[in-house]
Amino acid sequence: MTDQTVAARELVIPPPPAALIPVKDCDAFFPVRRIWCVGRNYADHAREMGADPVREPPFFFAKPSDAIVPRGGSIAYPVGTQRLHHEVELAVAIGRCGRNIDPIEAEGYIFGYAVALDMTRRDIQDVAKTTRRPWDMAKGFDQSCPISEIQPRAAAEALQTAAISLFINGQVRQQGAVHQMIWSVAECLAALSRLVELQPGDILLTGTPAGVGDVHPGDKLHAHCERIGSLHVEYFGDGGR
Ligand code: MN
Repeated sequence: MTDQTVAARELVIPPPPAALIPVKDCDAFFPVRRIWCVGRNYADHAREMGADPVREPPFFFAKPSDAIVPRGGSIAYPVGTQRLHHEVELAVAIGRCGRNIDPIEAEGYIFGYAVALDMTRRDIQDVAKTTRRPWDMAKGFDQSCPISEIQPRAAAEALQTAAISLFINGQVRQQGAVHQMIWSVAECLAALSRLVELQPGDILLTGTPAGVGDVHPGDKLHAHCERIGSLHVEYFGDGGR
């Protein structure tokens, strides 16, 4: 009996389905392993959150892989919050194992890019901050990471000058540019790879520009990153009220 058949027989419950993100212009999917996120990586957003936008080393938190909502769509307003916030972010999809990565070589670890929403229960996060508790329930809840199709790296040219924006019901709420990051994509990957070994399938959300704010049931969100793509999400229901 091979190891594989032993494993198949010994599972006491069905294995979880992999979270899959479609890849642009092909029939293949990117399987998600882990979702890493950078906190406060745009100076104007750090200021609006009451923090000093100094160039401290980047810090990271995580979401479970099944928080992914590939291509967005219709999503229930989450339970447990009365203040759901949007954060539009450039997402980086990792294609290779890597540890202690040199920023100069970081691009070689990237499979592609997407635009994502780091949805946040801001009321829970505010309590976590003041009580010095973890952020998991503020950041890592079900369906907290809608994400667009992945644009392979080779097709994503001149990303440094790309604009990133978020509209709600046609009104602009967040508008920034990739070059405004305090820590570049390469620097974030280098820093993260000194804390964990990056694995193929990992996703890194690279932080949000200023303008984060409330999302209500019925709102239609349109996230966009130039040269990468668009993401549409509509919230329904009143799970949080
Ligand atoms: Mn964020």
